[in-house]
Amino acid sequence: MRRNPITLIATVALIATLAAFGRRTLDGRAAAQDIAGAPPACIEPACVTGPIVDAMVGSPVVTMEEREACRDVAYLCRGLDWNDGMARVLRWDRDTEVIRVRVPVPGGWPRAREVRDAAIRGLLAWNGHPFPIQVEERDGTAAVDFTVEWMASPPGSQLGQAGTRWTQENGRASIQVTSFRLALVSPGSSDELSPEQIELTAAHEMGHALGLPHSDEQRDVMYPENTARTLSARDYKAMQSLYRLPNGLGIWDAAKADE
Ligand SMILES: [Zn+2]
Repeated sequence: MRRNPITLIATVALIATLAAFGRRTLDGRAAAQDIAGAPPACIEPACVTGPIVDAMVGSPVVTMEEREACRDVAYLCRGLDWNDGMARVLRWDRDTEVIRVRVPVPGGWPRAREVRDAAIRGLLAWNGHPFPIQVEERDGTAAVDFTVEWMASPPGSQLGQAGTRWTQENGRASIQVTSFRLALVSPGSSDELSPEQIELTAAHEMGHALGLPHSDEQRDVMYPENTARTLSARDYKAMQSLYRLPNGLGIWDAAKADE
């Protein structure tokens, strides 16, 4: 229940991990299409939860009907978190000039630069969609919007994780990326992830960091399992749609309220 949300959503990692259990493999045909031959895995702890929104403060200032807001938006509206007939559009402010991300080399890791470069390629897949993305490769004091953290022992079935905090003051919305983590090894093993796998996960988590929810089709980078290879036309379209709608918009669907 959060039709007028002043809501603090606790991290759902435990529930998510339980929910994800058993969803790491698909049928043989799907597995054969996967990157580097590994069986598909959930990208986050749960294939269904999507990004973790740590906090969301403020009720919608503007509300639109689902049939108006959700026309021709690819998977955007299907992936949103619907509560009691209402979903929110949560994203960066459109006057954001550039998004700065620090991507450190994973310390003490073999092929560390290759791994770091793979993550950078994944992040930059969204460069210009809609904002320029600037990567800071060195440690230092340059101000960044968030820093990529490496997980040498990812918990549960986690390949990556993005957390955001979204707030609204005097009608003006702002988003903060509170965490952005990428696994170095396949969950539950010590097998190093391939650069392709790290690139894909980085692109998926960057999609969440920009505000995108999950897709319902395997070819999209925002599908919750690692079945895609590159951003799809639907990924771009969902992102464009997200940034066409007002930030903080409440989308109302009476049919979903009755469910
Ligand atoms: Zn995800």
